[in-house]
Amino acid sequence: MITNEYLKRVYDDVTRRDGHEAEFLQAVREVFESLELVIDKHPEWEQAGLLERFVEPERVIEFRVPWVDDSGAVRVNRGYRVQFNSAIGPYKGGLRFHPSVTLSVIKFLGFEQTLKNSLTTLPMGGGKGGSDFDPKGKSEGEIMRFCQSFMTELYRHIGQFTDTPAGDIGVGGREVAYMYGQYKRIVDRFEAGVLTGKGLTFGGSLARTQATGYGLCYYAAEALKHLKGTSFEGKTVIVSGSGNVAQYAAEKCTQLGGKVVAMSDSQGYVYDPKGIDLDVLFDIKQNRRARISVYAQEVPGSEYHEGCKGIWNVKCDIALPCASQNEMDADGAKALVANGCIGVFEGANMPLTPEAIAVVQGAGLLYSPGKASNAGGVATSGLEMTQNSMRLSWSFEEVDERLHTIMTNIYQACYDASVECGKPGDLMVGANVAGFLKVAEAMMAQGIV
Ligand code: NDP
Repeated sequence: MITNEYLKRVYDDVTRRDGHEAEFLQAVREVFESLELVIDKHPEWEQAGLLERFVEPERVIEFRVPWVDDSGAVRVNRGYRVQFNSAIGPYKGGLRFHPSVTLSVIKFLGFEQTLKNSLTTLPMGGGKGGSDFDPKGKSEGEIMRFCQSFMTELYRHIGQFTDTPAGDIGVGGREVAYMYGQYKRIVDRFEAGVLTGKGLTFGGSLARTQATGYGLCYYAAEALKHLKGTSFEGKTVIVSGSGNVAQYAAEKCTQLGGKVVAMSDSQGYVYDPKGIDLDVLFDIKQNRRARISVYAQEVPGSEYHEGCKGIWNVKCDIALPCASQNEMDADGAKALVANGCIGVFEGANMPLTPEAIAVVQGAGLLYSPGKASNAGGVATSGLEMTQNSMRLSWSFEEVDERLHTIMTNIYQACYDASVECGKPGDLMVGANVAGFLKVAEAMMAQGIV
């Protein structure tokens, strides 16, 4: 509940102007509820119109993306880039290609990204972009032509000191490479820092591919140790999704002694009581780009179930939602609680509905919002930009070690902020407050801009 007058007034304004943007409103509400705990200490924020500015993107770009499919037909998609907040650095945040992409989705992601990037301690502002283009079932040529057309408009809005996109759902190394090629061709400059998640032969960073999933497990391990005196060792784990984040979350938590028994895609989930065979998973997803159901056809003893939401009924100790927003509702959360789960750490952005969060927190489970626990991806993108500026590349171990340190520090910052707010161990409040305070301080210092 939002009770503070200033927060309420700004939230009502957002509802009035952007009420149709459900995901964006949901994200703003969650953050504002946390800010209740600090707002009274900062009367200067209201005078400076800080929150009004904080919820308004600095710039929203929407554009046409025409391309020609393999049959020669012209197709048109809609492209977006939301440059949300540059108080602490150039806008930074991924590009999502998925039919569910709308301005609301991109705005919620850009808003979250601002706080997430602040938590990494690196100098990165918040932004996000994408298109309602569906890469599924498209040929290589179609993917390339789409990416080139998308960049033909986007290039004029980005740059290593302005805005530096990366991947997200539907945008992996292949798509980033096509977009980078087109950017370089248009601007006639090898400006590596403009995009992250690049291939290793042209400025990419080792460990960037693994970073979000690995970082999630480093963060979860820290929270489990500090708040529950335990670890992944011997724990049964569910990882929803089977894309970039899910694959490497599954790999790292297996390395840390956990057993991943279920994974999913948007159609259904697989259950393997022996623990997911990662070699088979990587082959299906990375080499063959096939559905998760193929896993059950090839691995004896495993099962496939239609419908991705059923995954939360699988008994587990730890849940890592790594697919998409609002993938877990109150029923899913109740099933986890009933099965004795001790912690839910978000790998995806906003995968739990507000009702699911209330169930999980109400039952005393550890809970971390994605803006903290999945920040390893963008943090390592920041390290990729650092290497690009220095014109050198670090070893896998060096990047991984820095990632580990960053995630430990993010956990500590969230925990410390939760204590300062009088809610020790509430990592949602901790993440929102710690992320916001740095952005607020930078915005206050820079005047009314
Ligand atoms: P990918 O495209 O690699 O994988 C997405 C996975 O989620 C796929 O298994 C996909 O299934 C599934 N999925 C997508 N939409 C839905 C849906 N509506 N319901 C159920 N399942 C769905 O994306 P990423 O792994 O990169 O991203 C996953 C999440 O992590 C997103 O929320 C993203 O914003 C977040 N994230 C990603 C980062 C990164 O570095 N990549 C960094 C930080 C956060 P299917 O194949 O059937 O579509």
